[in-house]
Amino acid sequence: MIAVVGATLIDGSGRVPGEPATVIVDEGQVAGVGLARTTPLPPGATVIDARDKFLTPGLVDMHVHVHSPDEWHPEIFLAAGVTTVLDLGGQLHDVAAYRALVDSGARPGPRILFTGPMLEEGETYPGFAGFCRRFDAARTEAEVDALADAGVDGIKLYVTVRPDTARRACTRAHARGLPVFMHQHATWGAEAALAGVDSVEHVNVFGQLAPEGFWLAEPAKLNPFEYGGWLWRWLGDLDPRSDAVRRLYDGLIAAGTALDPTLVLYAARPGAIGDDVGDTSMDDPARTRLLPLLPAPVAKELTARWAERRDAAVGASEAAKHRMRRAWDNILTLVGGFQRAGGVVLAGTDCPNVAIVSGFSLHRELELLVRAGLSPMEAIMAATRRPAERLGKRDVFGTIAPGRAADLLLLAADPLADIRNIRRIERVIARGIVHEPDRLLAGLRKS
Ligand SMILES: [Zn+2]
Repeated sequence: MIAVVGATLIDGSGRVPGEPATVIVDEGQVAGVGLARTTPLPPGATVIDARDKFLTPGLVDMHVHVHSPDEWHPEIFLAAGVTTVLDLGGQLHDVAAYRALVDSGARPGPRILFTGPMLEEGETYPGFAGFCRRFDAARTEAEVDALADAGVDGIKLYVTVRPDTARRACTRAHARGLPVFMHQHATWGAEAALAGVDSVEHVNVFGQLAPEGFWLAEPAKLNPFEYGGWLWRWLGDLDPRSDAVRRLYDGLIAAGTALDPTLVLYAARPGAIGDDVGDTSMDDPARTRLLPLLPAPVAKELTARWAERRDAAVGASEAAKHRMRRAWDNILTLVGGFQRAGGVVLAGTDCPNVAIVSGFSLHRELELLVRAGLSPMEAIMAATRRPAERLGKRDVFGTIAPGRAADLLLLAADPLADIRNIRRIERVIARGIVHEPDRLLAGLRKS
């Protein structure tokens, strides 16, 4: 039994913290929460003195791809305080093996939820084919059933899925108790909401707002990178407070569709790099102490990608950089506006995609969400309570309350005063087991 005594409790519910609290942990769960001055300590409990410190729920990254523990160490997530991840695209045998390894205790790591392969009804983009499964749209229900029977935690629809197919997939998934996540492309903007999608990934949802003359006749013929590049060509000229934006927000909000913008994925565009991209100290190869801990091929790719971005920024014209900056400002304004309009924002990173380091990139995502206009409390909820609700697991994790998993972060400074304090992690408790971030990282260095 563990007693964490005297911390300011930011319990994930959104409640304003009150006087110092005591949290009792037993058998992997929160057994009790009360005021520190009145809550008795159970005899024999290991006491963690948390006076003048801050306690939040463990963080959830709602968009990762963690296919192999050899390539992506689960310990890095825990060291960053990420106690749950949602894998939104990987082959079932890979993600199931990863989860089994962590659950067996052989490697410390986060709770892993997954969707299995990203479903494609059309030609799959070769770069991501390894994460996809192409299916016959006529057998949509059978495809969803097969994944549900295999024990997935949600369904991921990918770029070539059309509105009709999306609607059928959502209907079946919801009947099986599963949420649906979509990387949009052939199903535009609020069409995904109408189809019943529970969360739209990245900022592709804003593709619906492209001005005439920039419309894509057949978006499904572009690969995801081309699509990403296309957004940047006109997003800078968009009025983020226009009626069209308002209507898009309304469509998403009326359907209860959340937005997982994965801002870190957009933060390092030429022109944006170095300007306004949050604290990159944990994933910029020139600054991070993580580099020696990463598997060699991953470290090499990370270094190469960052170099590419720096070179592109140097070579870009001032006009191009200016356009990128305006587009980046608009992305932030659109995400903040969605939250202010009453939308649900989720925190995800898409790590280890495009040089985004596991775990630590979520801190940067939270900083960027605050820059977009969320309060630090809302940003913390986007990585705690909101993900749990979206996944139908609100009784399991995401908030600190009796009966929930004991997934806790002990911070040396107040993240509500400055969201960057989410990096000042002293201890991580994951399913009741206490970890010290530096030890986790040091352990990796030896292996
Ligand atoms: Zn992804």
